[in-house]
Amino acid sequence: MREFKKSSKLDYVCYDIRGPVMDEANRMIAHGDEILKLNIGNPAPFGFRAPDNIVETMKRNLTMTEGYSDSKGLVKSREAIVEYCEKKNIPNVTVDDVYTGNGASELITLAMNGLLDNGDEMLVPAPDYPLWTASVTLAGGKAVHYICDEQSDWYPDLADIESKITDKTKGIVIINPNNPTGALYPKDVLERIAELARKYDLIVFADEIYDRLVMDGKEHISIASLMPDRMCVTFNGLSKSHLIAGYRAGWMVLSGDKSHMKGYIEGLNLLSSMRLCANVPTQSVIPAALHDLDSAKEMLAPGGRVYEQREYIYNALNDIPGISAVKPQAAFYIFPKMDVKKFHIFDDEKFALDFLREKHILVTHGGGFHWEEPDHFRIVYLPDIDTLEEAMRRMKDFFSYYNQEEFH
Ligand code: PLP
Repeated sequence: MREFKKSSKLDYVCYDIRGPVMDEANRMIAHGDEILKLNIGNPAPFGFRAPDNIVETMKRNLTMTEGYSDSKGLVKSREAIVEYCEKKNIPNVTVDDVYTGNGASELITLAMNGLLDNGDEMLVPAPDYPLWTASVTLAGGKAVHYICDEQSDWYPDLADIESKITDKTKGIVIINPNNPTGALYPKDVLERIAELARKYDLIVFADEIYDRLVMDGKEHISIASLMPDRMCVTFNGLSKSHLIAGYRAGWMVLSGDKSHMKGYIEGLNLLSSMRLCANVPTQSVIPAALHDLDSAKEMLAPGGRVYEQREYIYNALNDIPGISAVKPQAAFYIFPKMDVKKFHIFDDEKFALDFLREKHILVTHGGGFHWEEPDHFRIVYLPDIDTLEEAMRRMKDFFSYYNQEEFH
């Protein structure tokens, strides 16, 4: 029989997040080991429950949402998204500019497939949410990583971005608030990115899936609100803000001046209709969710779970000799730095494996986010404080003796 192999394109996709560390964790679990998982940005397993009205709305609509919808989505849902854009000052958005998807993920892939030809370049942050690099690569493009600077609260390094723009660069991706760093970008940084997009004629792709998970009284600013004169593509969804990652509710919005984008928009419409439509029962909860923007606020305020867990993990990590971390301002991730000299670290994936085997805790090494130096890892601080305390106790102990060169 003929042998079917995986596409050679996949060789260029970074699968570190699913690679040997995950395989080892699965092997250990099958063997009966209990693993503390600090690696998944999925609130449900950690006791976070969807707001009741969302679940009720889904139930109520089930019998009315049995057929396909318009390929971009139900008009009522897209109207609610347009209203949300108005609240965020995202200009020039009508229902025709809104595409609903099975999570933002599906639309990220779709947006890259519609734009990129072989060899086209896309500026993607390092560290990134790795789906972006994968989607650019699978579309035939080249992900060119620009540095986010830990010294400046993980904001994008504008000079590095500019130095990497070529005549093949089609666009720039910004993930704000950021996974994996938890950074929230201030207006002046966004304005300077917008300026670069103008100067070099780039489309801005803004992944804002965490825009409602901001702490410390800060406000999220959509970069699209600063760019009425350019087309921006903004991604958002309910996976995180409404704790329904499994429902797969996401959307993509085209805003600003679309006059030169007819060809691209035609491509997006074609790709959107090829997948028929997004899950329709899920689309039906979007209006209720976007009329209830306060549901996440409690967990993000002092006394709330995400806030208190952030405070705990930030202090506990910085209390470990050789570990330092910038305080996250949004989402539920932290991206600590290891002192590679102190621990003789040369390979961050080996660190994650050593730590997993030794302490039965799963974290994701920085390379999984296209971070080149072997000096970072990501923690998802969704587990409750008791679990985080236990994890930090084991981590502190591990780093009291870890020497990677001598560790087997
Ligand atoms: N974008 C970022 C930055 C993410 O962290 C995630 C999920 O973790 C997604 C997009 C995917 O979101 P969705 O569940 O809407 O597909």
